[in-house]
Amino acid sequence: MAMETATGDGKIFVGRGVYDGARLFREWFDGLTEVAKRGETAAYCFVAGNLIEILRTFDIPVTFPEINSLQTAFRHVSKNYLEEAEDYGYSPDICGYVKIGVAIQRRNGEHPMGWIPKPKLALLNNYCNTFLKWGEIWERTYDCPVVSLDYPMTRSAGEVARPGTDKFNYEKDYLKGQIQEVIEICERITGKKFDIDKFRQILTWSNEVNRGWKRVVELNKNKPAVFNALTDGTVYMGVANALRGTETGAKYFSDLVEELEYRVAHGIGALCKSVEGTIPMKQTFRLSLVGTPCFPSYSQFNDMFAKWGGVFVYSSYLGFASTGALTGYQYDIKDPLESYAEGQLIMHCSGTDSMFHESANLKRLGPEFGLDGVVFHPVKSCRTVSTGMADMRRVVSDDLGLSTLFIESDLVDPRVVAEAPMRNRIDAFFEGLISRRQQKQAASA
Ligand code: SF4
Repeated sequence: MAMETATGDGKIFVGRGVYDGARLFREWFDGLTEVAKRGETAAYCFVAGNLIEILRTFDIPVTFPEINSLQTAFRHVSKNYLEEAEDYGYSPDICGYVKIGVAIQRRNGEHPMGWIPKPKLALLNNYCNTFLKWGEIWERTYDCPVVSLDYPMTRSAGEVARPGTDKFNYEKDYLKGQIQEVIEICERITGKKFDIDKFRQILTWSNEVNRGWKRVVELNKNKPAVFNALTDGTVYMGVANALRGTETGAKYFSDLVEELEYRVAHGIGALCKSVEGTIPMKQTFRLSLVGTPCFPSYSQFNDMFAKWGGVFVYSSYLGFASTGALTGYQYDIKDPLESYAEGQLIMHCSGTDSMFHESANLKRLGPEFGLDGVVFHPVKSCRTVSTGMADMRRVVSDDLGLSTLFIESDLVDPRVVAEAPMRNRIDAFFEGLISRRQQKQAASA
């Protein structure tokens, strides 16, 4: 959905970021399909804590099983995959991502966007305990190394990973040792030596992605918000994850920053589709989402908010599902391995904080983004993201004084998404927001 706008020195396509992001994503899947068709293999890793820059240094193609799963929901076929895995014996209680992943493997990699190659290497981590069980399935199914990374995390809300402290240095060294082990495994399975200069170049491109991603999200503090964090933000983040450490990813983010800065300067807010074509969204209430989107009813879910003028200016998903890249961490290419370990530690703590301690983040984000309300969206599949949300909600409404909404559905399973009750709850939430605003206006008059 791009509309062309002339500028003094050329043309900016307003909506280019979403348009290009969708195209790059399709091309990335096409590349994986080619790998699968040639009978070659890829690394399986999770969007969090994946050491993608190391894998790229060895030219190992990367596939993200979680993204493969959510794409089936986005394309309205996830139910078929879920039922196949359940017929095979997986319980309805298990995370839908895993079950879809199992069904894709049982279909020999068949996926609505192409074909998924078999694994050459699997990288797991302790971001979520389901990752470890998922990895065990690959270990049983394929003869490939399965490596589990143990990332130190924030122990309590408010704790900050502070470079220079003894604790930080100990944890960084612990992580660096694990990174070196992964390098050795990559050398063994590819027969190549680790090329530190190539790694430096890859980190330079990642730096541009991280810097751009941070800037993009900051630009949404403006009024009107220049993108919808629930929809456009998910596309931007997909590129940040899939194309980090590539020249294409770096160029995408420099173009995206250019587009969004142009929109800030010209007051062009987030766009949406209507019968009249692509138009600016109505922005009456500024919201943040805590949790994940509802991929089986992706646009319907967004429309339930948009019809009231609710725009998502921020989302915790942008933090935890980009593994802390929102920190904008810049690797020091003069000392790449040391800096890589430091960056992974800082970003991983920040990413998991967006999941487990988002109420603490909202204390700062609420005023910065001018939030009117916060929508908590726990999902049946993901206990990792959803646990503790009820308590977080209480903190946000009692201590921060923000209006909140708590609605449950799922990120991939359409069988547990009930749109009618969800719509009723959302309508009531906006009626409350309107009445609250009227009361404030009356009090100040
Ligand atoms: S439980 Fe949540 S974090 Fe873990 S694999 Fe499932 S969706 Fe991902």
